[in-house]
This record gives sequence, structure tokens and C-alpha cells, in this order.
Amino acid sequence: MLVCDNVVRRFGGVVALKNVSVAVRRGEIFGLVGPNGSGKTTLVNAITGFYPPQEGRITLDGTRINGLKPFRIAGMGVARTFQNVALFHGMSVLDNILMGRHIFMKPNPLASFFYPWWAQKEEVEHRRHVEEVIDLLQLAPARDEHVDVIPLGLQKRVELARALCAEPKLLVLDEPMAGMNQEEKEYMVRFILDAQEALGLTVLIIEHHMDVVTALCDRVLVLNNGQEIAQGPAREAIADPRVVEAYIGK
Ligand code: ADP
Repeated sequence: MLVCDNVVRRFGGVVALKNVSVAVRRGEIFGLVGPNGSGKTTLVNAITGFYPPQEGRITLDGTRINGLKPFRIAGMGVARTFQNVALFHGMSVLDNILMGRHIFMKPNPLASFFYPWWAQKEEVEHRRHVEEVIDLLQLAPARDEHVDVIPLGLQKRVELARALCAEPKLLVLDEPMAGMNQEEKEYMVRFILDAQEALGLTVLIIEHHMDVVTALCDRVLVLNNGQEIAQGPAREAIADPRVVEAYIGK
């Protein structure tokens, strides 16, 4: 589904990605692993259009996406979450989740005037998706809370819910467990697995915690200093001596 071919990204003198190639298959959970500063977020930013690569090619279902603006890539079915939670402050959990539907909204207020039956049908469809996601991630008790006052673990779940409401074909998660305690991490693993099964998702996930990587990921790419040091089935790749050395060497 997603193919990165010899992707290069530089920031001034720093080469953050050096000819990185990876192919994510439909329906799998693919992990991006590596020590801090190894280029994981830069690869996600290259895929989602925030920092387009200077060399190489990225395709989604065969269509070249590098060079497209982030909103275009989002419109093609790529939803993401951020390392530092990026919710709409001052708004409720429900309103934040509803924001995930905005890519389906038609910017034509006259349509709801002239074709009320059509607008109503759309509204019902949006609500159905939102309620499905709320149920899936068990967010019903928190739906009216303000996002600023709920615990971090719950905020991350709201961000995941918002991304799921965009009905992504590729869901990109940037360290969804960052800052969570063990119990919150275990819940999050469960929610991601449940969502993947229920919605038939393909997931690309940056993850530091090896227990989470082995619980979630089918295959992984391990980066170090912007380069691939291992790629393959999760357990085998993270046990590779070069991977162990890259982590212990830090
Ligand atoms: P990781 O996600 O694995 O921790 P990053 O992709 O954030 O690593 O960073 C890889 C390298 O690219 C680092 O040396 C980092 O300093 C650099 N880098 C990332 N983003 C930028 C940026 N916006 N400007 C300058 N350098 C950056």
C-alpha cells in the first residue's frame, strides 16, 4: 500500500534520512523503531507531507504522494497522530473527535438549504461513524469532558479516535504510548488491535517500548542515524545484534 523508495531528507548539514526504503502491506501493523534522533519522525513527516523528501519516491496505492501538501495526503486516506498530543484546546472530547470528520464535510451551506434530506442523511452517517469509534475506544463516559482536564492517556485515546473518524486507509501513529504508565500502555495496545480488526486498518507506528512493538507489530524497520539497520518480522529484527548495539551504545 505504502512504498518509500530511497528516501533522502536533509536539514542543513544533517542527513536525517539516508536512502530509506520500506513497503507497508495492506492490513499489517508496521513498526518504526530506533534510538532518539534516528529519523523515525522525519520519515513519518516525509510520508504525511510535512517535510517532503528531497530525493526518492513515496507512493500510496501506486500514486506518487511526495510533493503533495499534507491536507492532500490526508484526503487520500492517511491520518496521523502526533508525538505531543495535538488536540483542540477548550473543546470537549466529542467535539475533538467530530473534527476527524471534517475531511468529509462539503463547504457548501446552500446544499443543506436546498437538499435538507441529503444533509440529514450525511449527518446521520457522520454520527454513526463517530459513535462506532467512541464505542470501540470506550470513550463514552468522557465524551462531554474538556480535553484540557483529562489524563494524558485519555487525551491520546481521543487523538486516536479523531484519526479513526477520518476512516483512514493508512493510520500513522507517532509514539502513541509516550508518557503513559504501564496500565495505560496495555489499554492502548488493546484499543489499537481492536480498531485494526474492526475497521480493517493498515497501521504505521513509531514505538520505543519493545514490549509494545512485539505485542503490536507484524514487521518493523529499525533506523539508526537515518539509515536502516534491520527490517523484517518484529521479534527477529529487534533481536538483531546491530539493533541491540544501537540501543546500548546510546
Ligand atoms: P526520531 O524521531 O527518531 O527521534 P527525528 O526524525 O526527530 O528522529 O530526527 C532525526 C534527525 O533530524 C535529528 O538529527 C534531528 O535533529 C533532525 N531534525 C528533525 N527534524 C528537524 C527539523 N525540523 N529541523 C532540523 N533538524 C531536524
